[in-house]
This record gives sequence, structure tokens and C-alpha cells, in this order.
Amino acid sequence: MTHRWACLIGHPVAHSLSPTLHNAAFAAVGMDAHYEARDVAPEDLISAVAAFRQADCLGANVTAPHKQAVLALMDDLSEEVVALGALNTIVNQSGRLIGANTDARGLARWMRQVGIDAAGQPALVLGAGGAARATVWALADLGASSVRVLNRTPEHAQTLIEALRPRLSSTELSWGHLAEAAAPPSAQWHVIVNATSLSHHGEVPVVHPGCYSRDCVAIDLAYNPPETGFMVAARRAGARAENGLGMLLHQAALAFERWTGQAAPMDAYAAALTERVAGR
Ligand code: NAP
Repeated sequence: MTHRWACLIGHPVAHSLSPTLHNAAFAAVGMDAHYEARDVAPEDLISAVAAFRQADCLGANVTAPHKQAVLALMDDLSEEVVALGALNTIVNQSGRLIGANTDARGLARWMRQVGIDAAGQPALVLGAGGAARATVWALADLGASSVRVLNRTPEHAQTLIEALRPRLSSTELSWGHLAEAAAPPSAQWHVIVNATSLSHHGEVPVVHPGCYSRDCVAIDLAYNPPETGFMVAARRAGARAENGLGMLLHQAALAFERWTGQAAPMDAYAAALTERVAGR
């Protein structure tokens, strides 16, 4: 049988956990395949993507800075890629390239699995980049009654909301400045998601303790460090706090499932991740 392959393209890609996760998954299901990270400069994007049409290629993941530029190179786009305006997964279907976004569905699937029930509840999202956009989509998919997006540059939050509002009509969407989260709130939130990149720099978005309701879940989409300042502050205010590893694993699993048609071996992902983190 032909050896198959998949890869990640980005610039840079050296830090990625994806090769660790997907190579462990291929081994666990006994598939003759490998996954590698390829550093692709913007001027080489077209030729890099053309290679994904080869019969032995399963597909690819796409990270910054290519998530939007790659859209024009696809033959078809999934519903959530059209809504989110970015993709993170390419599936090779007999030489046709299908663009998918597993971030939003991965976050929603993980939240369902760990019992974070947003249905009929108000949610707050801090940040308005690509991850925040996927988060708003996921919260609406889970049936949140409302989602408010707060961002350092409020115009970016406004753009995000205006792009998603026509497609997410069952959820009330609004936006404001990030500073609003630090002020005494007029309402409490059931889910608060930190989708800013502050945790990467050891910084914390300021959230007033009164924002957290008794059964609130605070989710930091960052996972390095695994316990962020945002999570510590949320726990101190009485909330349950989670990091972004669940989203990471489930977005990887959904990509694996699209490429192979097989259920992803979640235990293999978790074991590979534990080993990688321990080896750091
Ligand atoms: P992005 O598109 O670059 O967006 C970054 C966001 O952070 C923007 O809203 C930006 O605000 C805000 N920000 C940056 N520096 C800030 C500062 N000093 N003060 C306040 N706000 C600041 O990044 P992204 O791809 O959305 O990623 C955001 C986070 O999600 C990262 O921690 C990333 O690792 C994480 N993530 C996790 C997963 C997962 O699987 N767990 C997947 C994707 C992303 P402005 O609009 O004002 O610039």
C-alpha cells in the first residue's frame, strides 16, 4: 500500500505540536503515513499547496500567515470557512482541495465533551483575532443566548461581529472595548474565554471578579504555560478554569478524521502530548 503523508505549512512552524500529535495518531491506528512541518514563505505558497493534490497526500494544516491567503487556492470551502474567513485544514479529495476550519468545531466538541454547557447562557469573549472568531462561532453553535466580544482595538471586534451576525442569527452578538471587562459589571457571564494572545507573554487581561457567576467557566485558549494568570484569577473569583489544550486536541482530531475517515485515537494524542511536555 502507498505511504501517505500530511503536513503543516506556516512561517514559522518549528514550535508546532501538530507533528507530535499526528505521527502518534498514525502509529496508533497502524496507518503507513507521516506528518511533517514545512516552513513555507508567502512567495512559495502556491507551489506548496499544489503538492497537496498528489495522490499520496492526505491533506494539510495551515497556520499563520497563510490562513487567509490559502483560501483562493481551494476548490471548495466548508460552511464554517466561509463564515470565519480563514481555514486551518485542507483535505485532498482525489486531487480536489477542500478547505475546512476545525478550530471552531474542535472547541465546540471539546466543550460538549467536558460538560461546559453554554446553551441559553451569556458568554464573554476577550480578543477579536482568528481564535476569537472561531470561539464566537462555537459558542453560537452551542446555543449561547448572547456573546459579547471585547477587544483592545474595538474596531476589530466590530468587524468580527458584523461578519458573523448574518450567519449566527439565533445568538445576540455585541462588541466593546477590552477595558470594559475590568470595570464593575452590570451582568455576570456563564462562559468567559480569553482569546487574546496576552497569556503567551505572561500577561493577563484584567477581568473584574464580579463578572464571574457562581457556575462560570473561564477558558484560556492559550496552553503554554498550562496554568495562565487569567486562569488563576478566574479560579480566585470562584470560576472553573480550563486552558486551550482541549481545543488543540479536538481540532487536530477533526482534521485527522477528515483525512483518514477514521476516529482519532484521543488516548494517543493525550499520551504524545504528555510525553512532549515532560520532555521540554
Ligand atoms: P491573533 O489573530 O493575532 O489575535 C490576537 C488578539 O489578541 C487580538 O484580539 C489582539 O488585539 C489581542 N492582543 C494582542 N496583544 C494584546 C495586548 N497587549 N493587549 C490586549 N490585547 C492584545 O491571534 P489568534 O490566532 O486569534 O490567537 C489568540 C490566542 O488563541 C493565542 O493565545 C493562541 O495561542 C490561542 N489559540 C489557541 C488555539 C488552540 O487550539 N487552543 C487555536 C488558535 C489560537 P488587537 O485586535 O487590538 O490587536
